[in-house]
Amino acid sequence: MSNDDIRLSFEFFPPKTDAGKEKLIAVRDGYAKFNPDFYSMTYGAGGSTRNNTKDLVVQYNADGHATAPHLSFGVDGDDIIAELIQEYKDANVNRIVALRGDMPSGLGGSSQMVYANELVAFIRERFGDHFHIEVAAYPEIHPESESYLTDINYLKGKFDAGANSALTQYFFNPDAYFYFVESCQKIGIDKPIYPGIMPIINLKSLVRFSDSCGAEIPRWFRKALEAYGDDQESMKAFASDAITELCALLLENGAPGLHFYTMNQLEPVKTIVENLGLNAE
Ligand code: FAD
Repeated sequence: MSNDDIRLSFEFFPPKTDAGKEKLIAVRDGYAKFNPDFYSMTYGAGGSTRNNTKDLVVQYNADGHATAPHLSFGVDGDDIIAELIQEYKDANVNRIVALRGDMPSGLGGSSQMVYANELVAFIRERFGDHFHIEVAAYPEIHPESESYLTDINYLKGKFDAGANSALTQYFFNPDAYFYFVESCQKIGIDKPIYPGIMPIINLKSLVRFSDSCGAEIPRWFRKALEAYGDDQESMKAFASDAITELCALLLENGAPGLHFYTMNQLEPVKTIVENLGLNAE
């Protein structure tokens, strides 16, 4: 499979320490051989990682690695967000992942949060078409959502506001993605929806996180992973093969690319991409 027609992107979160930042550069450079379309850097809602995210995004772009900041209003006002976006524009950043975000506990209630469609409209209104805007999509439906239909209609609202494409929450059941894409097309969404792929590095924390973000780990898969017990190396090898199969199935059935949640690690995502034959070299 060649990279030419398959979009690849790799997501990082901003490390807190200098050592972590140095390590992440080595990780990023390990992915460079796949010629990714872009990297992305998450953002702590409430502005908790504002400078960290910004500094890394600016630095990576200056290094010649296209990197998109994730962005949400959090508790910030229009001026702060507009200034931040202007800084990105000045640094030749041309892609933003626009989100509502989740408020960290202690930083205030959900009433202060600005929906992603409003952020998309804000960016378009003030910065025209400068940025390619990615938004989030949920094949297994956002946990706060009233229903399947309201959630996909809100996704449509993000596209109507000017988003160019969507990155999905991770999932392990390919049918969830296929059904979702079909349902989105039926309500008139004609923009690409890129599956988000989560590697399995630490099963316990993945189970905990999946419960909170509404991503399902199919029972058979979880049981099979748990059966490895303390043999973490074998568990990871099995998981890596299973995720490779998931990606292959998605691509064979029309997924326009893959967005990997790297967890700031080179493995197992590097092996998965190599298994898929997406190595550009
Ligand atoms: P929205 O699209 O605004 O939707 C939020 C909820 O409100 C949904 O239930 C939706 O159905 C509903 N809704 C949407 N629009 C409206 C409206 N106009 N009126 C009423 N209801 C509405 N979180 C972070 O904190 N930092 C990150 O960097 C980050 N990166 C992410 C990257 C990806 C690819 C994904 C999939 C998620 C990411 N998240 C991140 C998590 C995300 O912020 C949370 O899932 C958050 O709860 C929802 O954000 P959203 O942009 O999807 O919100």
